[in-house]
Amino acid sequence: MLKTQRTKVTIRCNECGEKFTLRGRRGPEGHVETGFKRCLCDNDRHFEVVPEDI
Ligand SMILES: [Zn+2]
Repeated sequence: MLKTQRTKVTIRCNECGEKFTLRGRRGPEGHVETGFKRCLCDNDRHFEVVPEDI
C-alpha cells in the first residue's frame, strides 16, 4: 500500500525563528516530505517541523 497524504507543514527555524508554511506529502511512516532545503539564514538542519492535516 503506497499511500501518500497531502498535508500542510509548518516549518519553524530554530536559528532565526522564521516560519514557513509549505505543502508536503506524508509518507507511510509519518515522514513528511516538503522539499524544504534551508532557511534564509543558511540553517539547514535545526528546524521544528509541524505537520497539519488539512
Ligand atoms: Zn533561519
